[in-house]
Amino acid sequence: MNPSILLIYTGGTIGMKQDPATGHLVPFDFSQISGEVPEIDRFGYRIDTYSFDPVIDSSDARPEFWARIARTIESNYDSYDGFVVLHGTDTMSYSASALSYMLEGLEKSVIFTGSQLPIGVLRTDGRENLISAIEMAAARTPEGKPMVPEVCICFENKLYRGNRTTKQNSENFSAFSSPNYPALADVGIHIKYDRNAIHYPQPGEGPLRVRTEMDTNVAILKIFPGMTENYVRSVLSAEGLRSVVLETFGSGNAPALPWFLEALRECSDRGVVILNVTQCQAGSVDMGTYANGAILEKAGVLGGLDMTTESALTKLFYLQGIFSDGEEVKKHVVEPLRGEISVK
Ligand code: ASP
Repeated sequence: MNPSILLIYTGGTIGMKQDPATGHLVPFDFSQISGEVPEIDRFGYRIDTYSFDPVIDSSDARPEFWARIARTIESNYDSYDGFVVLHGTDTMSYSASALSYMLEGLEKSVIFTGSQLPIGVLRTDGRENLISAIEMAAARTPEGKPMVPEVCICFENKLYRGNRTTKQNSENFSAFSSPNYPALADVGIHIKYDRNAIHYPQPGEGPLRVRTEMDTNVAILKIFPGMTENYVRSVLSAEGLRSVVLETFGSGNAPALPWFLEALRECSDRGVVILNVTQCQAGSVDMGTYANGAILEKAGVLGGLDMTTESALTKLFYLQGIFSDGEEVKKHVVEPLRGEISVK
């Protein structure tokens, strides 16, 4: 049987074309996608489209929007072999991370893609990205199972695990990177899958369970030389705060300022979860390396290893949605749930 793919269009540059009357970029009717990219008919797949109405600039993404993507996948799960989500690039890494948590026990491909140039523009990167994403969402292993049963981002000839990505460039076609995890596939003359890097469902993991409740009482506190006590305390005293993603230097270091450590200690004593991730582009937090990391551990801070900020934030939203008890959040946030942390 020919594969069947559902294209879910949520918004972003990829679905735009120039309005001949005004010259402005406007979303086009996505059900007519094969008119814009006629090549996709040559796959011989059944490709259906579902468009959000209204479509959004992904800067407007919120947990309700992620829940809507998750529910769309859930309600069509049995009817399609794979899913391609067309999405703006600006917050695609957040959305792909959030979806990886929401879709527990996923056994089919959910591939996010988008573009830097609209599909209606001659030099668009959207055409290649879309064609590659569809082909990978439909790909099968020799055993006939989905080749990449994960939430991924396909962009500029690479397929990445979504919760490992970050948007690295606002102009280049190569907009995303996966600094701490290898690409799941490389697209060249052939599509080469790295089957050792892809997670395949283990017995007991499926079937799909969708959990969309999220609690967004999380702050991101980026430290910098010269930060003031007022800045730190105002973030840490936000009403309702349950967790903080603390973006630290290097392998998880912070200034040894007494007021700073005291503010963290007070916050963690109130039951707020503080998770240490690095500001560096790549690498992992290890608070045992330097004295300036060890002091954070003493102040009650947890090590987030090599999680991206996007992944750490959405994981905390997700865990807080499930657990009202901070101790449970603490326990699970440092465990790999969807391959978002490298286990040493
Ligand atoms: N602002 C757009 C968005 O993220 C940019 C893009 O699609 O690449 O929705």
